[in-house]
Amino acid sequence: MSVLDPSIVQKLKQAAGPSGWSEDPAEIAPHLREWRGRWKGESQLLLRPRETGDVARILSVCDETGTAVVPQGGNTGLVGGQIPTSGEVLLSLERMNRIRSVSLEDNTLIAEAGVVLASAQKAAGEAGRLFPLSLAAEGSCTIGGNVSTNAGGVNVLRYGMTRDLVLGLEVVLANGRVLDLMRGLRKDNTGYDLKQLFIGAEGTLGIVTAAMLKLFPKPAGYTTVLVAIPGVEVAVELLNRLQDFSFRLMTAYEIMERRALDLVFKHIPGTADPFPEHPGWTLLIEISNPSAFDATEALEQALARALEEGRIVHALFAKTARDREALWRLRETIPEAQRLDGASIANDISVPLSRIAEFIRSGEQAVRAVLPEARVFTFGHVGDGNLHFAVQAPGHDAALLAAREAIERAVQEETAKLRGSISAEHGLGLAKNDAIARYRSADEITLMRALKQTLDPKNILNPGKLLPSGRG
Ligand code: FAD
Ligand code: ZN
Repeated sequence: MSVLDPSIVQKLKQAAGPSGWSEDPAEIAPHLREWRGRWKGESQLLLRPRETGDVARILSVCDETGTAVVPQGGNTGLVGGQIPTSGEVLLSLERMNRIRSVSLEDNTLIAEAGVVLASAQKAAGEAGRLFPLSLAAEGSCTIGGNVSTNAGGVNVLRYGMTRDLVLGLEVVLANGRVLDLMRGLRKDNTGYDLKQLFIGAEGTLGIVTAAMLKLFPKPAGYTTVLVAIPGVEVAVELLNRLQDFSFRLMTAYEIMERRALDLVFKHIPGTADPFPEHPGWTLLIEISNPSAFDATEALEQALARALEEGRIVHALFAKTARDREALWRLRETIPEAQRLDGASIANDISVPLSRIAEFIRSGEQAVRAVLPEARVFTFGHVGDGNLHFAVQAPGHDAALLAAREAIERAVQEETAKLRGSISAEHGLGLAKNDAIARYRSADEITLMRALKQTLDPKNILNPGKLLPSGRG
């Protein structure tokens, strides 16, 4: 590990304030391990600023001394972006966790970067509004991390990605200057929309210190149903049909392959198979009802017709809030069940909806061509064309991990053939920063590098992430 010059450490500690730093390896250690245990970090200094001014002072020192820094929120990122792997200073935003304001008139909430997503949802709920971003890591991930990864999750179908939910940002630039982009207007065509640059930038262009988020009317209730379908082809056709029936009030449309659900029944206590037979694919569908309309009956009718036509095999409606929770638990615990089951290779891809079924077939074939023992455990946000195409090889973990690169490459090639994306919602981090060069044109990469060079000329913000390694 490269050791920091003691005089730089001293300046950084001063900038962070007396309680804003730690050199204690035991305190730093949890920040260096990520969820899947794939990357192991190293850092001798953890900085934990309390306010924007602290971050500005820290970045000024980093700029002046050429010291690299890795921002971290809840450390739930799945591509290693938040992990300092070369002894960089770790900048945790977790103590910047205030909700600065909620405006019912503007329908906005201003949260600091370290606010945990569930806390932002709760603050919106207590004000009688909805902040719709929702993902399985919501109890730990932070608004700063959500903005920096442009997080997606289970409600994108109706409300969009994080990018669509941000009306303003406060960002500290690499030179320590604070950029106030908090105007919060829904219409504003005064030049380039600079805040968009920092959304999904994975901490490589600036440090997000606060965000103004859009609030929505709080649903009066939910219609939640688990639907078994005979084949994946049905999923897309049914989506369009049900959208009509539900006046486009559908908020979630998730898919789970039988194999992925079986892992949940095996590893997650208190879960049980709700269906008498084993259909190949299961959908979890949710409509968020406004107070003036309840879509349950319309959805029941639509699904009854689909059942008559043999398009679906079973439908199980949640009757109580507890039922709803139990259905969501099946979907949300898949990543955990998978982790408990052994080695897996995650692929977070998207393709046009019209090509989902084709991708699932050709993707699995391509994976098995690399390793015949491999199986795909597909689940994800099929309503957005986004699948978590997770590969496992039960009983053959070592062979699977040895074939990681070839498997990832095979999946990426299949995705690209169908004009899909190799990173739909998790970002690139360290996992795919080299792959971007294959799936973005030379012109796009040149422009991205020019942006990086302009905003971070000394390459001190999360170096080596997102863009291909080698040239910063
Ligand atoms: P971190 O992991 O700490 O950081 C993520 C990236 O953002 C890193 O590159 C980091 O350097 C950068 N960063 C963090 N904070 C800042 C800041 N203030 N300023 C600048 N850069 C910063 N993601 C989805 O999109 N959809 C899902 O459905 C989903 N499901 C998940 C389920 C599970 C079980 C888990 C473990 C993760 C899931 N994720 C999902 C991934 C992850 O939760 C998201 O990427 C989340 O947005 C990361 O937030 P975080 O606060 O944990 O960020
Ligand atoms: Zn997801």
